[in-house]
Amino acid sequence: MASFDVSRLDHVGIAVKSIEEASRLYVDVLGLAVHDVEVVPEQKVKVAFIPVGDSEVELLESTAPDGAVAKFIEAKGEGIQHIALRVTDIEEAMKKCKEAGLRLIDETPRKGAGGARIAFVHPKSTNGVLLELCERR
Ligand code: ZN
Repeated sequence: MASFDVSRLDHVGIAVKSIEEASRLYVDVLGLAVHDVEVVPEQKVKVAFIPVGDSEVELLESTAPDGAVAKFIEAKGEGIQHIALRVTDIEEAMKKCKEAGLRLIDETPRKGAGGARIAFVHPKSTNGVLLELCERR
């Protein structure tokens, strides 16, 4: 059993070609609101957060052709790119995942949108889901 605390589904990351176009569904049709839009240069993405209850939809638009989101869309088209679980201690979570033999993409936590500290677990270790561990203060 993992001893680190996973508190909730933090967000679902959706790769889109255009945040402006994609957000219409959530705002105009579903009545949600874009809480924040932020560029994360380290990840070559622009991110829009749309809170839904305790979780969020995270729309991801690439800012560079060689970014992970651009490559994802090129290979698979728009769609769910990752899911993120909120953890209380990311170092501990990464350590446990590593000990369990999971393949981590990040060796150390990186800076995510909204001031989060994040790390990705490779889909080959997680039934095909790119899993983000996400610690927020
Ligand atoms: Zn994310």
